[in-house]
Amino acid sequence: MEKVIIFSAPSGSGKTTVVQHLLATMPALEFSISATSRAPRAGEVCAKDYYFMSSDEFKERIDRGEFIEWEEVYPGKYYGTPKSEPKRIWGSGKLVLFDVDVYGGLSLKKIFGDRALLLFIMPPSLAELRRRLVGRSTDSLEVINERMARAEHELSFSSQFDRVIVNDRLDQTIAEAEQIINEFAGSR
Ligand code: ADP
Ligand code: 5GP
Repeated sequence: MEKVIIFSAPSGSGKTTVVQHLLATMPALEFSISATSRAPRAGEVCAKDYYFMSSDEFKERIDRGEFIEWEEVYPGKYYGTPKSEPKRIWGSGKLVLFDVDVYGGLSLKKIFGDRALLLFIMPPSLAELRRRLVGRSTDSLEVINERMARAEHELSFSSQFDRVIVNDRLDQTIAEAEQIINEFAGSR
């Protein structure tokens, strides 16, 4: 069966950190590269981290029906899953790993159904979430406040997920995620 694993979380929970570890240690997984109209952060590479593009190009692609799902995650900042990504990854015999926001995760679960494992990476607390966003030093205070406001709403959807993993100690989070993914990959 062609399967997908969906990681969702409020921004700053540690989702990217966890996903990058898993991609490095689990060769059966491959990252689905999203499109976005936000600017690249230092060190981010186009066609590896994201397909970076202008808002105009993003909107043209929406009109052409190129996305499985897309969201305006922050005002004026679009993020979307290209239809071509799962096809590319299944073609190489691997499991698709999505890193999307909470609403995108729920949309993908509706589309892929039993072929999807929907995982929620939960911060230990809102105070710790803010500490991580500040500590990451990638966003202005205004952006951090925007992300915190969104996080409170996103947390209320966690009960709709297949599994919730609290990202307190990173090594434990990774071990738990590996175990859950291996179980899912081995099931029919
Ligand atoms: P997200 O992808 O969910 O936005 P990141 O992976 O960028 O989050 O992590 C946000 C910040 O928190 C980063 O600076 C990261 O190093 C840190 N972080 C991630 N996991 C943990 C953890 N378990 N304990 C402490 N800090 C963490
Ligand atoms: P960031 O700007 O921190 O990379 O991502 C912001 C949020 O957008 C994160 O929660 C990330 O998972 C989400 N995101 C990334 N790609 C997609 C996508 O294709 N679709 C949706 N819905 N969200 C995405």
